[in-house]
Amino acid sequence: MVLFNKIKEISTAKVKNKKGYLVCEDCGGYYELKADESPSDFVACECGGKLKHTKKLKTPN
Ligand SMILES: [Zn+2]
Repeated sequence: MVLFNKIKEISTAKVKNKKGYLVCEDCGGYYELKADESPSDFVACECGGKLKHTKKLKTPN
């Protein structure tokens, strides 16, 4: 288990990803899962917030 600590800045150019994303419900940060990573590998965001697994990333307009 590792902490969610690699939040990327939201970029509409990178919204396709097979593994989906982990989104923090508290700070709104997200992490793009890599091919060898699983949502269950992550326990929490670095801010302590809960993580939600989502296939599609909703980017604010
Ligand atoms: Zn957070």
